[in-house]
Amino acid sequence: MPAPVRLSKSRLVAHRQCPKRLWLQVHRPELAQRTEAVENRLAQGHLVGAAAHTLYPEGRLIGHVTDLAAAVRETQEALAQPGDLTLFEPALRAGPILVRADILIRRERRWRLIEVKASTKVKDYHVTDAAIQAWVARGAGLDVERVELAHVDTRFVYPGGRDYQGLFAYADVTESIAPLQDQIPAWIADAQRDAAGPMPDVAVGPQCTDPYECEFVAFCAPDGAEFPVGLLPNSAKLARALRAEGFADLRDVPPERLQKDVHQRIQRATLRGEAELDAAAAAALAALPWPRWFVDFETVGPAVPLWPGTRPYQKIPMQWSCHRQDADGTVTLLPPYLDRGGGDPRRAFAESLVAAIGTTGPLLVYNAAFEGGVLRQLAEQFPDLAPALTGMAGRLFDLLELARAHYYHPAMMGSWSIKKVLPTIAPDMDYADLDDVRSGDMVEPVYFAMIAPDTPAERRDALAAALLTYCSRDTLGMVRVAQFLAAGGNGPDA
Ligand code: SF4
Repeated sequence: MPAPVRLSKSRLVAHRQCPKRLWLQVHRPELAQRTEAVENRLAQGHLVGAAAHTLYPEGRLIGHVTDLAAAVRETQEALAQPGDLTLFEPALRAGPILVRADILIRRERRWRLIEVKASTKVKDYHVTDAAIQAWVARGAGLDVERVELAHVDTRFVYPGGRDYQGLFAYADVTESIAPLQDQIPAWIADAQRDAAGPMPDVAVGPQCTDPYECEFVAFCAPDGAEFPVGLLPNSAKLARALRAEGFADLRDVPPERLQKDVHQRIQRATLRGEAELDAAAAAALAALPWPRWFVDFETVGPAVPLWPGTRPYQKIPMQWSCHRQDADGTVTLLPPYLDRGGGDPRRAFAESLVAAIGTTGPLLVYNAAFEGGVLRQLAEQFPDLAPALTGMAGRLFDLLELARAHYYHPAMMGSWSIKKVLPTIAPDMDYADLDDVRSGDMVEPVYFAMIAPDTPAERRDALAAALLTYCSRDTLGMVRVAQFLAAGGNGPDA
């Protein structure tokens, strides 16, 4: 008989989400695929944990990330010491389950357990997490009296000096977890049974993204259909219903099942196997004056604020790119801006933008809500630049909305992101040929790596070059999209 599978909090939580997910983690971990967005969230979680540690200067970190036996030993030695105690990442074991608690505090023999979360509010699955941690801590012999969730408080304004007092709001979940405590032995038994058996037969469904994006989706839901119904935008529920009715491919769905115009358009173009573009796009572009400024901003939004006066997750602009197109068709890349110093980049961003962009002509962007929000935020912060910045915000023209309303190609697979539109009109502008930055999700980690003091100068230069190439690729891509739409699909890229 095989040895029972050892469990961690993460594995137990994975089983709660889907028995097959736990089974795959145990037996086929090589099938896991994590998106860059998920990697980013994990990285943010580590930084939030580190910030929480600064609030307890007396705390002791139990290391041994991979050597769990050593972590358990070091934890037990620490717990055996008399007096008050604060431990970070203690390794606690109860039966077949071993967890690393975030923060464990003993004051006058009373125990308090804190789970630290990077999210901005308490979610149901956080309570489940805390319940498991508390159950194991109690099973390990600690009479935990109070269990709390510390989550990021977006009202916090960083005063600087690595002072993170106030970054967290604390929720006492001691009572919320009480009813779950009796259930945990059954959760463990079920998880061990399923992990030890054959792969559970579970179909893809809402559990694949709730509460976590499962890392095995590519394995469980291979794109059997050429145009899976899941490509319909903002329609997860409809896609589930269609799959349940036996429709895997959008082309097989009876047209009357699709109510929204956009869904009908996607299906129509997909069935015909050719793009749809209506003349209204060209008319809208023809009405725009010259020069035209194709602009893209990049921002970072660290959970743990880096710059005084900023809040958690606040979008801080640190890079812009602009291609100007004149009436004679000439396209010019303006010298782009990228903060490389690591200080608060907002003032230099705003000043350079105001200096570079002329006072007439539309600013064509791809998602005006984003660029407009950045401009308005900067205008509020820098009153002397406000007239110029708000003036720019008033000149925004949204190419995304234009494309969404008037163009669709089957290869876009239900998305109007510029990375999906461009290959259908300008195949030479593939983002896959870029190195360090190929998607928006890669901007933040690359930027932070670039400004990190210990990054070698040569590597910094390479990362800066990657950021600059990525951002200017976006604005040149927008020029190509506009040219294509303006020409009614018959432009040089068609
Ligand atoms: S993709 Fe869905 S079905 Fe497959 S293991 Fe993950 S949660 Fe389960």
